Amino acid sequence: MSDASAAPPSFDFDVIVIGAGYGGFDAAKHAADHGLRTAIVESRDMGGTCVNRGCVPSKALLAASGRVRELADAEHLKGFGIHAAPVRFERQKIADHANQLVETIRTNLTRTLERSGATILRGKGRLEGSQCVGVRQSNGVDRIYSAREVIIATGSDPFVPPGIETDGRTVFTSDEAVSLEWLPRWIAIIGSGYIGLEFADVYTALGCEVTMIEALDRAMPTFDPDIAKLAARKLIDGRDIETRVGLLARTVTPGCPVTIELADMQTRELVETIEVDAVLVATGRVPVSKDLNLGSVGVETNRGFIPVNDQLQVLVDGQPLPHLWAVGDVTGKMMLAHTAAAQGTVAVDNILGHPRTIDYRSIPAATFTHPEISSVGLSEAEARSLGESEGFELGVVRSYFKANTKALAELESDGLMKLLFRKDNGEVLGAHLYGLHAADLIQEIANAVARRQGVRELATEVHTHPTLSELVEVAYKQAAMAIDG
Ligand SMILES: Cc1cc2nc3c(=O)[nH]c(=O)nc-3n(C[C@H](O)[C@H](O)[C@H](O)COP(=O)(O)OP(=O)(O)OC[C@H]3O[C@@H](n4cnc5c(N)ncnc54)[C@H](O)[C@@H]3O)c2cc1C
Repeated sequence: MSDASAAPPSFDFDVIVIGAGYGGFDAAKHAADHGLRTAIVESRDMGGTCVNRGCVPSKALLAASGRVRELADAEHLKGFGIHAAPVRFERQKIADHANQLVETIRTNLTRTLERSGATILRGKGRLEGSQCVGVRQSNGVDRIYSAREVIIATGSDPFVPPGIETDGRTVFTSDEAVSLEWLPRWIAIIGSGYIGLEFADVYTALGCEVTMIEALDRAMPTFDPDIAKLAARKLIDGRDIETRVGLLARTVTPGCPVTIELADMQTRELVETIEVDAVLVATGRVPVSKDLNLGSVGVETNRGFIPVNDQLQVLVDGQPLPHLWAVGDVTGKMMLAHTAAAQGTVAVDNILGHPRTIDYRSIPAATFTHPEISSVGLSEAEARSLGESEGFELGVVRSYFKANTKALAELESDGLMKLLFRKDNGEVLGAHLYGLHAADLIQEIANAVARRQGVRELATEVHTHPTLSELVEVAYKQAAMAIDG
């Protein structure tokens, strides 16, 4: 145990974490496991967005709807000589599967925290000056606790743009969509980021017609352009999805039907009014920080996001504020569950006196559509501009699923991996993938990025045959050849 555990008795806790999502959970568990007297404050459900309204239920829905898609894909099955009966599914049972998984993970997570010795405080937390946290329980009881270190992990909520009215039933966000309470015949999804795409995957597999509305001038604007182009052919154009790009959903009015006024993104002039059965608003997320009383310690947010350095210390005028840390979505850095968790442990390691920084470049991201999309490291544009500033040439190689034996055996040869590397020393800078199990495949490249490994060394590593991982091997070998000629 480190000296950090020897807190002066004047503090109620060594560490108080506000928010029990993935960021708060990993921070509190790590702190308690290392002997720090730890409390975690939660005002809603243990596990936060990921467990209750995000990764967990959405992946359960994708698993079930993915199977429906597979069994209903007569052409694909015919390739194996399989002729299945028409597929039937029960919406409620699919919803139940998601709800039960949420319940299981939430219970496990809560028990794990309790077993680690962390104290769970139910209520809404806020700062009360330095090293003090106020907690208001739902019954109105309010108490102030002192802590040597405070970690803010209050996460994010869905962003609903002005002009869009939600009623939770016909116009809703992912918070409600994960419950799959009904299947609209025609649903408009506003936003073609990863949340919009994943729900489009679920809805189309279950027989809904989708209209995807994107304000920017192309669908999937946040993805690598080559990957987006290829993926869109199957994930959007190949399905019952109509895309409307360059259009702003200026107003959305709930009801039966739901009315959407679409305006030109540039001129803001009305282009068309459409009527649909439901609307999913998937236009990004906003930090939860406004009720934290950050002013009591002089912290100014950036549109609600709490500024932090790579040690996860909260910054005031660019300088770290003693004893205050922030992790997870509320910091606005790669808003993903595993980023939040990693930040949580890095913050606690620093509290424990083991200096560490977080390496965002090696954190992978995945979209769990069928097939999946994933990425790690720099985008091609970022890698090119790094090359210009540091004076190296960027190497780009492509490895195709259609040349992979396992993908061909699965009749899933649609896909591409793009590997970015430095041509001078071979260092892997990033990768962008679309294809079967892309979310699993990216991890190998993420590990290489984390170690700043070069393609010459990586090209010598033997991969199991026949597996999809040979796609990565092929890319490394091509890259090594490109360097050595
Ligand atoms: C539909 C959807 C799918 C997703 N899928 C994935 C995925 O597949 N993979 C992935 O990596 N990420 C995914 N994400 C993102 C992921 O859910 C978030 O990045 C992650 O939950 C962030 O964790 P966090 O701990 O920062 O915050 P949160 O999970 O938002 O948790 C914050 C917690 O703090 C609590 N809180 C807030 N204010 C207070 C207060 N004042 N006092 C006490 N408690 C408070 C909240 O109630 C909440 O429980 C998905 C998100 C959504 C919406």
